[in-house]
Amino acid sequence: MDKHPAACPFCGGTDVNVAQPDYLLRPARLNDDGSITIGENDDASDFRGLTLLHCHGCCSSYAQPASVVERFDDTLNVEYPDEPKRDDPAYVGADVVWLPLRAGQVTRLAEALDTQEYWDLADLLPKNNGHVYLPDDEYGDRYWNDDPTDAQREAIEEVETARALAVFLRVERDRQVGDHPPYTFPKD
Ligand SMILES: [Zn+2]
Repeated sequence: MDKHPAACPFCGGTDVNVAQPDYLLRPARLNDDGSITIGENDDASDFRGLTLLHCHGCCSSYAQPASVVERFDDTLNVEYPDEPKRDDPAYVGADVVWLPLRAGQVTRLAEALDTQEYWDLADLLPKNNGHVYLPDDEYGDRYWNDDPTDAQREAIEEVETARALAVFLRVERDRQVGDHPPYTFPKD
């Protein structure tokens, strides 16, 4: 098996855990046969819905593919010192909304984030030829002779957040069903 189907789609990491709405991280282990073993910990409880995984490599969260076989082993009990705290923005288990979206709807949302980046978030940032240039971007140093001001730093964080969400949407879309043009609601 080349890559475990439940490995992190963003960094390829296999050090992952189950994140669920009513507690933080439940132990999990990706097995060589493509299945996942889910363990117990003191906080574990039953949860109905798609399994959300948390990657310790890059702190991303992503849905476990429906094809992955789940096994349970109540002796698998691991402490994770790097787990995000409940009030941490990286905490992924508490307020997840499951939305049934068509691939083309995800594409439209990702494109809306591109537009938001350019037209709403980057008024204080250098733009050229349809692109916003942050200091760490490729060719960004051509546009940044001085350190960013405080207001520009805030704008940079906003752009980075929008970009990360757009990447997340596109990666999940491609992983689950592949690229797809923007969805248009059918007219009556
Ligand atoms: Zn990762």
